[in-house]
Amino acid sequence: MTRDVLTADVIVIGAGIAGASMAARLAGKARVLLLEMEAQAGYHATGRSAANFEPTYGPPVIRALTRASGAFFRDPPEAFAAVPLLSPRGVLMLGDADDGALAEEYVGLGYRACAFAEAKQRYPLLREGVAAHHLIDDTTTDVDVEALHRGFLGRHRWAGGTLLCKAAVTLGERRGGVWHVQTSAGDCQAPVIVNAAGAWADGVAKACGVAALGLTPKRRSACIVAGPPGVDLRDWPQVSNLKETFYAKPMGGKLMISPSDAVPSEPHDAFADDMALAEAIDQYQQVFDHEVTRIESSWGGLRTFTPDGNPVIGFDVVAQGFFWCAGQGGYGIQTAPALGAVAAALLQHKPVPDEIANFGVTAAELAPARFAPGPPTPDRGR
Ligand SMILES: Cc1cc2nc3c(=O)[nH]c(=O)nc-3n(C[C@H](O)[C@H](O)[C@H](O)COP(=O)(O)OP(=O)(O)OC[C@H]3O[C@@H](n4cnc5c(N)ncnc54)[C@H](O)[C@@H]3O)c2cc1C
Repeated sequence: MTRDVLTADVIVIGAGIAGASMAARLAGKARVLLLEMEAQAGYHATGRSAANFEPTYGPPVIRALTRASGAFFRDPPEAFAAVPLLSPRGVLMLGDADDGALAEEYVGLGYRACAFAEAKQRYPLLREGVAAHHLIDDTTTDVDVEALHRGFLGRHRWAGGTLLCKAAVTLGERRGGVWHVQTSAGDCQAPVIVNAAGAWADGVAKACGVAALGLTPKRRSACIVAGPPGVDLRDWPQVSNLKETFYAKPMGGKLMISPSDAVPSEPHDAFADDMALAEAIDQYQQVFDHEVTRIESSWGGLRTFTPDGNPVIGFDVVAQGFFWCAGQGGYGIQTAPALGAVAAALLQHKPVPDEIANFGVTAAELAPARFAPGPPTPDRGR
């Protein structure tokens, strides 16, 4: 039996943090249908992150969006989440003798140089003489990603929005000013569709007859290992190195280690590169007095980048009613509150909200036009 065609004002494709945060911000202003190909929202990149809110990390646009998200993280709307969204973490960054220029750059970003004794006090397993530079960032916190994602999905649902899982979009066609979208769960229609499909965003565009923007999913691996016997490392900082060849952070009473890999990949259900993990663990053990005997679990995820590394938020230059919300790279969690608000505003043909524009965020630096220059259609998005 086929079901009726579902209609909405806006169809959002992808219920990861990008689609969910945007749908939540549109809630109550438009009828939003959120389509997710998996049985569960958050199955891909969103459920596989390192859960950092790191205001010192990423290119300038990302740092601005992260800082602009801070107020939401610290003081979310009433009943958004039952737990605090942020909890203290900090970062201890280590550098080799030839990392002087990088160390200076990090100080410019807000890190502070410290002596070995302080670094050791922060991360007691640190070996003496293994690093020439010790830097501390106290602005980085952990994010409760599940609470954040659930909060956004809850807002969307509470305002009458619909989330349809196991609904993979396979085709989209614009006829008579309306997008007709075929999914594995039936057909849907709306005048506007949002492409928030993460690693699959270019593929979704092609399925809708829209030119791809050249997004690149990049695999990152991570694993969980036990801390040294009898050591409680839950309150210790994340540790990393200036050359970005590994990082480790306490997670759920254990330690997450990642090789900071960024290997271009096809969109897929990503898994860890065991060799890269082994190398990261080896590097970690050279710097810290901690013998890792076993990987308890591992995972991989895809961080998807645009050609210039900044997210792409806005209406397509050519295809009417086709809105991009993709390319969040390795920063989609920490920027979600601001990006969701910017995306919802731009979709409604409003300017970047003042409280975000005040951090220097502009629509132009997020616009799809920077990858697909061409004559804009006068009524795009309507
Ligand atoms: C190991 C790792 C560590 C990271 N650490 C951090 C961090 O500390 N801080 C931070 O801010 N970010 C971090 N990130 C990045 C962050 O996870 C991503 O930027 C963010 O999750 C991207 O969200 P998204 O919604 O765009 O993508 P996704 O979560 O992948 O969501 C896209 C969704 O679209 C769905 N979809 C795709 N195609 C279709 C279709 N045809 N029809 C219907 N649905 C479709 C997918 O099933 C998926 O659920 C990390 C990522 C990884 C992998």
